[in-house]
Amino acid sequence: MKTIRGQMIELLREEEMSVRDLSKTLHIMEKDVFDHLAHITRTLKGKGDRLIVSPYRCLSCGYEFKKRKKLTRPGRCPECRNSHLEQATYRIG
Ligand SMILES: [Zn+2]
Repeated sequence: MKTIRGQMIELLREEEMSVRDLSKTLHIMEKDVFDHLAHITRTLKGKGDRLIVSPYRCLSCGYEFKKRKKLTRPGRCPECRNSHLEQATYRIG
């Protein structure tokens, strides 16, 4: 029996996934996905792998939340105040 985190690491090694994808695939809450991702980031350190994040992006003006340290979803775009954001995706590589 694999742990959720183990499964998550395997999935992310194979393909790029959003928090929503991970939540559906693993049958866990999105907020739990963020907790696991934060933990995975620490676990991977020093193993030669890292969590690669494609940042959230504003669907209105294209602004990218590149400097965002937190994994959770930003509220709205600082440039145009739009709240329609493209989901960040994650993979391990
Ligand atoms: Zn914007």
